[in-house]
Amino acid sequence: MPAVTVDNPLELPRVVVPLAGDRPRRVKSITTAPRGLEGEGFPVRRAFAGVDLADLDPFVHMDQMGEVDYGPGEPKGTPWHPHRGFETVTYMMEGTFLHQDSIGGGGVIQNGATQWMTAGAGILHIERPPDALIDSGGLFHGVQLWVNLPAKLKMTNPRYQDIEAGAVTLLTNEAGDAIIRVIAGSLGDAGGPGSTHTPISIVHASLMPGAQLALPWPAGYNALTYVLAGQGSVGLERHAIGEGQMAVHVDGDYLTLAANETQDSRTQAFEVLILGGEPIREPVAAYGPFVMNTRAELQQAFEDFQAGRLGQIPADHI
Ligand code: MN
Repeated sequence: MPAVTVDNPLELPRVVVPLAGDRPRRVKSITTAPRGLEGEGFPVRRAFAGVDLADLDPFVHMDQMGEVDYGPGEPKGTPWHPHRGFETVTYMMEGTFLHQDSIGGGGVIQNGATQWMTAGAGILHIERPPDALIDSGGLFHGVQLWVNLPAKLKMTNPRYQDIEAGAVTLLTNEAGDAIIRVIAGSLGDAGGPGSTHTPISIVHASLMPGAQLALPWPAGYNALTYVLAGQGSVGLERHAIGEGQMAVHVDGDYLTLAANETQDSRTQAFEVLILGGEPIREPVAAYGPFVMNTRAELQQAFEDFQAGRLGQIPADHI
């Protein structure tokens, strides 16, 4: 998985270890993400399906895009579409997505880069593979996470952040057999490059076979582990978890994860995305591309989109 990596994790700084008296979080649920299709028909897994909304807060939706090995002509994206009231975070581990939006943001997302788009009051955007990838086919693997905004920020100005792979903060565990990438927020005393509107941490960890991880986690944050690839366990009781499954960790100061001794030859490592943040604790009215607080605000979003008030497709569109 060519997200940003290092040859020798032993050279990386260590993540801080839990203190005596810190409480391990317990595992509340493990769910399996169903498969679906998004945009023009690219395969996804709906990572949050079956999880209590209160356990997801401040997140509202997450798709694992692929992993898929496309044949020539098969790669797909989305048409131009609007968003309001939240943020989309797109992290690409394999393959390439082009992004363009109605506020002049845009670029190439690939090889461990993240694009953080704040829709706020309104934006139009398109996400699609480049022509060369459509022609050649190839591996495609990413994640798109939807981060909610509190009522007071739903109509904030739209914003685009391009987080290059090289900017991601890299750490390892005590044994040096894991790579921990802090994409946004903080982990112990380390901070990631992504700027967030509310306190959030997003981490991608690769655990070598047999590796164990204990990660400090603020007691006020929710905590979710989604398995991108491989097999392992979560919690001190070592609940089994594998590719396409998500764990909710509750009540405590740190999370524990472990990779099985045997991984399949394709992935080699136990690859997990670990997410959390301060819950917003407001009513959520979500429909299609809009995440608001009330049905009346959703109706207004549709009317504003129809009237062109969420933005215009730029003249030089891709
Ligand atoms: Mn979108």
